[in-house]
Amino acid sequence: MPNINDIVQIAEAMGKSPVVVVPERCAAVRNRNATCRTCIDACQADAIEVRANELNLNASLCVACGACATVCPTEALLSVAPPDAELARSAAEAAVANDGTAVFACARMAAKRVADPALFAEVPCMARVDESMVLSLVSHGAMDVLLVDGNCATCKYGVCDAAIAETVEQANRLLEVHGSAVRVRRASAFPDSLLADDTQGMYGATRRGFFSDAAGAAKDTVVTAARTTIEQELGYADRRTIGERLRVSDTGEMAQFPMPRHEVAINALDAIGAPTAERVESRLFGTVDIDIDRCNACGMCAVFCPTGALRRDPAEKALAALKYLEFSACECVQCGLCVDVCWKEALTLSNSVPADELYDFEPRTFHMKGVKRKKSPFGASGV
Ligand code: SF4
Ligand code: SF4
Ligand code: SF4
Repeated sequence: MPNINDIVQIAEAMGKSPVVVVPERCAAVRNRNATCRTCIDACQADAIEVRANELNLNASLCVACGACATVCPTEALLSVAPPDAELARSAAEAAVANDGTAVFACARMAAKRVADPALFAEVPCMARVDESMVLSLVSHGAMDVLLVDGNCATCKYGVCDAAIAETVEQANRLLEVHGSAVRVRRASAFPDSLLADDTQGMYGATRRGFFSDAAGAAKDTVVTAARTTIEQELGYADRRTIGERLRVSDTGEMAQFPMPRHEVAINALDAIGAPTAERVESRLFGTVDIDIDRCNACGMCAVFCPTGALRRDPAEKALAALKYLEFSACECVQCGLCVDVCWKEALTLSNSVPADELYDFEPRTFHMKGVKRKKSPFGASGV
């Protein structure tokens, strides 16, 4: 469930952009020492700007490919062209109609109008499809996942080809290590089973044709839902500034957030099957180690962690009394912020997570050496 801040921002931004920005989730907004610029590397349109404590997206440059939302570890960028829930429903319906094969097609392929639109889910660009979407479909019974992405080499979105390949590789590695025989495949043409002789009447005002218009999708679906939630169910809007939203609380924590895609992925993997290897390697999960000899027990890593994967001893919240830190691999999104904020360089982060740790919901504990801070290192905002 999005929190009130997410909902307000979604409602305000939906009509303007195919990607909604939730800045307080962004590692670089939370702390100016953050090195994450993954979204910028993924964006072919130079539409994203990340500066110290600022994340901006230029909607007039954005081509709605969805690559940034796919790679952002903290889900600070939400692709709404189409929204995840709509896309998942569309893909699941198509998989049922296809006897278990889930088919996604990019808008360029869909525009050829050679295939029955009821048999595939349309995305503006295949970079829009992320691992959580694929894994969720497999966990619900999809026996095959096919990405029909045309010929990326001749597409104006062609630079997304590497990003799509990376998502496929990541998803397939996770499927393999969880004992699934399903693999994500790519194709540059629709399979014969989806082709139809006369598709004219099938497109027009269909829902999938409508999804080619990202702004239209945004306005008509999630905006309506978000506004309804705010106005009818919650009854108010959070108008705090970003500094106010990120202010460190009296208990020494910056706001933390649920990560819906991350949760979908780990729940799907749990349903698919137990890991068949000792370690799970992916970009979705991380594991942290702390060199206790270097650590000075300042607790900064836990303060800035956006998910609460690293957290202070719940019974010892006062900043002067940090005795241990807890770490939960299943909540770590591999954003690297804890490493970036540690001035003692005591943390290391790995993408190779012991399988038993990933599915062990008991946190790992790091005991501090008892170095005490005399006062809080934070000012009024901590940003
Ligand atoms: S956390 Fe997400 S939005 Fe922020 S810099 Fe990294 S990829 Fe971009
Ligand atoms: S959707 Fe694509 S073009 Fe738009 S900001 Fe994200 S990566 Fe850039
Ligand atoms: S533990 Fe570190 S890498 Fe993992 S989510 Fe928290 S800040 Fe990010």
